[in-house]
Amino acid sequence: MVFRKRAALAVLLLSAGAAGAAPTPEIEKRIDDLIARMTIQEKVGQMSQSTSLATPLSERIKQEIRQGRWGSFLNAGNPSDRAEAQRIARQESRLGIPLLFGRDVIHGYHTIFPIPLGQAASWNPTLVQQAARVAAREAAAEGIRWTFAPMLDIARDPRWGRIAESPGEDPFLGSLMAAALVRGFQGTSLADPASVAACAKHYAAYGAAEGGRDYNSVWMPELLLRQVYLPAFHAAAEAGAATFMTSFNTLNGVPASANHFLLREVLRNDWKYDGFVVSDYNAVIEMVPHGYATDEADAARKAANAGVDMEMVSTSFFDHLPALVEAGKVDRKLIDDAVRDILRLKFRLGLFDAAIPAPAVSRVTPESLAVAERLATESTVLLKNRGDLLPLASTIGSVAVIGPLADSPVDQMGTWVTDGRAEDVTTPLAALRQILGQQRVHYAPGLQNSRDTSRAGFSAAREAASRADVVLLFLGEEEILSGEARSRAFLNLPGAQEALADAVAAAGKPMVAIIMAGRPLTFHDLAEKANAVLYAWHPGTAGGPALAKLLFGQTAPSGRLPVTFPRSVGQVPIYYAHLSTGRPPLTSELGVPAGTPVKPSGYTSRYIDLDYTPEYRFGYGLSYTRFEYSNLRVSAPSMPASGAITVSADITNRGKHEGVETVQLYIHDVTASVAQPVRVLKGFRRIELKPNATETVTFSIGANDLAFYNERMQLVTEPGRFEVWIAPDAESGLMGTFTLR
Ligand code: BGC
Repeated sequence: MVFRKRAALAVLLLSAGAAGAAPTPEIEKRIDDLIARMTIQEKVGQMSQSTSLATPLSERIKQEIRQGRWGSFLNAGNPSDRAEAQRIARQESRLGIPLLFGRDVIHGYHTIFPIPLGQAASWNPTLVQQAARVAAREAAAEGIRWTFAPMLDIARDPRWGRIAESPGEDPFLGSLMAAALVRGFQGTSLADPASVAACAKHYAAYGAAEGGRDYNSVWMPELLLRQVYLPAFHAAAEAGAATFMTSFNTLNGVPASANHFLLREVLRNDWKYDGFVVSDYNAVIEMVPHGYATDEADAARKAANAGVDMEMVSTSFFDHLPALVEAGKVDRKLIDDAVRDILRLKFRLGLFDAAIPAPAVSRVTPESLAVAERLATESTVLLKNRGDLLPLASTIGSVAVIGPLADSPVDQMGTWVTDGRAEDVTTPLAALRQILGQQRVHYAPGLQNSRDTSRAGFSAAREAASRADVVLLFLGEEEILSGEARSRAFLNLPGAQEALADAVAAAGKPMVAIIMAGRPLTFHDLAEKANAVLYAWHPGTAGGPALAKLLFGQTAPSGRLPVTFPRSVGQVPIYYAHLSTGRPPLTSELGVPAGTPVKPSGYTSRYIDLDYTPEYRFGYGLSYTRFEYSNLRVSAPSMPASGAITVSADITNRGKHEGVETVQLYIHDVTASVAQPVRVLKGFRRIELKPNATETVTFSIGANDLAFYNERMQLVTEPGRFEVWIAPDAESGLMGTFTLR
């Protein structure tokens, strides 16, 4: 069955959101009127975004705003500068066109939520949407009406530092996060003064940079692009994302910022996108070093022709587009279209009509902190809990709190934090002292920061461990080790952290490792030594109370990995939705000690010095209880292309604690005209069960869920056999089969 040619994934039933609402004739009329009166300089001014809104506002900038030199500012000014700049634009510029202030409100504004990868680990789009709403409210109060988020680059390479900002490796989960974030930022109406316009970035395939090195080239077949890297962007567009940002990379040799295929064919023609497209920071002129444009004028021409509407920071549009239009190298209509899309957003945000906002300052509130704490709780993944060490009893004598991340407010907030304040953060150390009292917490950081190699603090750490009943070891990465331009060639715990763990383990006390990091790390040896491991990502402002309450069972872990954790950097890229080789490895071949070449026997697809399997699989995460899956039912042995079947299983809580289980649905198209991944996530449901309770979870599967792109880029389903799992993660679960007729 062929769906529409070049149709995008119909799998996700996403309704158009506020910003994607049909253009109102009244707004279009006002835009026509403005465009008719604008000079070419004023038009390219609208297409230009600057960072240079210094405090206090300079006379030069005020004058430029009066002249209509800039359409937008990014990451600039304080609330009063922005209010004053807006007043000048509206009251003193010739046409009174307002400015649009953008900012990187990536995972919170003053209240910092877990990094986006952590948010994805919650598998809770409703909560993620709520957090984005809080961020929007705080930012909008200070005059920011545009955020450069959500970042939707599917990432399958933990070396890439920006995996921290991504929704992880999976297009289905990524698409749900995309829609949730857009809806949270934009609310039900952009005109709501508490809404900010979203920006789906970085379009596209930036997460697949070769070698995991930031800004690097991407080579990718269109089929993979459509199947894996575009769906989250499409979901954002469908949810009404007001803007898109191009990425820094070349895609198959053509920079994303001049990529006709991405910007015209897919975004505008296929998806009918009516928002505007901003370049990334200097990305237009970077096409010169890319070897794609001869000079800045050539770069401006290529970007504008491909469909970039606004240039971030570099000024090639302003400097060269008027002459290029004069020379007939850029169509005048194309400039008008770009300006139209930019003005439309300014109208939708109410910037033309609402009263000029007075400078205001927002703060964290008990309500915002409650959302942050809940999301930090739900983002945390319990990777190991030998002998049910966790949760700890509140009657415990004392704990040792050790490690460079135990009391480091800035690191705990993670990458891309410009407005989060250290003084608003509660660290795990502070939260544990609140719960247990000062006397019952023995604190010794052991290391100054995560990269520290000095062992000077080890003896104090060992001493603290020997005085306590349990050791809580807070390890990981400082915030500066992940994010933009923070690619790593090693994925181990940096500095002397493994050695610190050894020194502390010598005290012989039960040990819990709590890891805060911006990416999946490799920490096999530590995990062997520790009785329990919690992966907390960078959990944000309220990470401390969230972790302390998890440790003491006031809450329970429910996070699930949104990305596969490798055993070693040499396995990268490693992801669950891979194809099968013709010589799949055998489970009987498992058990290769790390780094020890085995005598090669058998010619299967594996490593001779390490197991081929991941350390922790996608979708994995424990809770304080144990769930049993039973009784898989497939409603019929076969389904017609126009029909649907249901698959269900019974989930029982067999443990002693109440808990949340994320029940996952995977499918495998066994034979197809284009080989399909061994498993693909198609749904999930979070259920909460009391001890001994059972719930039947049912998923419906329609033909759309079975569709894939064929060699001609048609979205099709093909008859044949399918395997289906209801599972706690991407590698286990109960399997059934059915055929599509
Ligand atoms: C990043 C973007 C960001 C922009 C503005 C760029 O370097 O790639 O994600 O939105 O800067 O700060």
